[in-house]
Amino acid sequence: MPTTNDQPPAVRIGYGFDSHEFRPGIPLKIGGVTLPYDQGLGGHSDGDVLLHALTDALLGAIAAPDIGSLFPPSHQKWKGADSVVFLREALKRVREAGYHVSNVDASLILVAPKIGPYTSAVRTRVAELLGVHSDCVGLKAKTPEGLNLDSAAIAHVVVLLKKSSSEKRKMKKKRRSA
Ligand code: MG
Repeated sequence: MPTTNDQPPAVRIGYGFDSHEFRPGIPLKIGGVTLPYDQGLGGHSDGDVLLHALTDALLGAIAAPDIGSLFPPSHQKWKGADSVVFLREALKRVREAGYHVSNVDASLILVAPKIGPYTSAVRTRVAELLGVHSDCVGLKAKTPEGLNLDSAAIAHVVVLLKKSSSEKRKMKKKRRSA
């Protein structure tokens, strides 16, 4: 769409979705935390459904290629990979684009285990990974009522990015010299 304003937006929103299937005998990683449970989430990497959705939300906010394009599941390199690696790459791209994370809101949909007792630990870890206060990480867990999705875990994540102040300074300087 043509626009008369070529300045980068002050805020950008991103959305990510992911789902993984439960498999017995593997660790359950959610938001970078290993939860005690007899099943984990299958996948080429460590199956961390929340970090995958968060990574895609960050990449989407800056219109970067998605997680599957950057880290193809067909590539041996990413077999069993710690999903923190994917998140860090997305954050690096966000910083390079001149933005920082303002806040994140996530919904996890799964039958079990109950996430309530671990919500605080997951929010703290995600906040630490993003470099924000844990008050800036929302996390709700829901059960998939009526969806017949008992063997899957699903994550939806939205993220708000704000233009970094150094970037704002750069833009002002550019305007002044124009
Ligand atoms: Mg995934």
